[in-house]
Amino acid sequence: MRRHGRPPGLGVVLAGENPASEVYVRNKMGTVAAAGCRAELFRVAAGATLAEALAVVAALNADEAIDGILVQSPLPEGMGADAAQRVFDAIDPAKDIDGCHPYNVGLLVQKRPRLVACTPLGCIELLERERIPLRGKHAVVIGRSDIVGKPMALLLLHRDATVTVCHSRTADLPMVARSADVLVAAIGRACFVTRDFVKPGATVIDVGINTLVTEAEVFRCFPPGSRKRAQFAEKCRVLAGDVHPDVAEVAGALTPVPGGVGPLTIAMVLRNTVTAAENRVS
Ligand code: NAP
Repeated sequence: MRRHGRPPGLGVVLAGENPASEVYVRNKMGTVAAAGCRAELFRVAAGATLAEALAVVAALNADEAIDGILVQSPLPEGMGADAAQRVFDAIDPAKDIDGCHPYNVGLLVQKRPRLVACTPLGCIELLERERIPLRGKHAVVIGRSDIVGKPMALLLLHRDATVTVCHSRTADLPMVARSADVLVAAIGRACFVTRDFVKPGATVIDVGINTLVTEAEVFRCFPPGSRKRAQFAEKCRVLAGDVHPDVAEVAGALTPVPGGVGPLTIAMVLRNTVTAAENRVS
């Protein structure tokens, strides 16, 4: 790590006061720091302007000791609808830890990836480590966001899967999903993928992280006597993925939430930080 006289440096930009973002940022920075890298937090006030956020990114671009920049989404609404894209566009592509800059997206499209979005990269790592076959298999990705769905589809395509990308306008979604050997759910709707979406034996990757705060939602997702219902009774909130827990009875493999894709995403933040540092000194 210190071959080049200093540890790899990650600058994390956190704008506003989103409690979930605080947790994600703490976990990412903790992991990166525990591996011997330098992780520094740059806060931007909730009421700050987009120009102020862009100024923080510009300073990190110019900082020689910073190899990677991560801007935690979402940005405060007051910064405008296109704020996230404008901030991602401003990051030096060589320091773009979440692979959101158009230059890095283009490289991924052309199958010569340099820095790729951490969550889909983590999903691929999980599939490869579990030796889930992808070549010639049908992969269905539900969700077409720039940060998860689209890069996920490209990574699967580059591993010779036949890929279908679904979204909110897809007709007969359960039928399409049911043809998948590998099903990736990146929707943001708790327990949306039910067992009728899943071919028996399919591998299901649940990217969703949803916080349930009403009893109705919790009862819809988790059966009486379950650990999650007990957790809700105690804490008045509980996490759920995009995949209904019943899917475990049909799927060949299913990632848990929490403890599945989330930790892999964090591991990929570390990997991309080291990759960015190596690329910058080579
Ligand atoms: P997003 O930008 O809101 O995109 C959600 C996608 O789901 C959109 O493409 C949307 O379709 C689609 N969708 C919404 N409702 C649908 C429906 N009824 N039927 C079919 N498709 C539907 O979300 P994201 O950033 O990709 O995140 C997705 C989930 O992953 C969220 O729960 C998020 O918290 C979680 N996440 C987890 C990690 C992790 O580390 N585990 C990292 C990032 C995100 P349209 O395009 O048609 O609107």
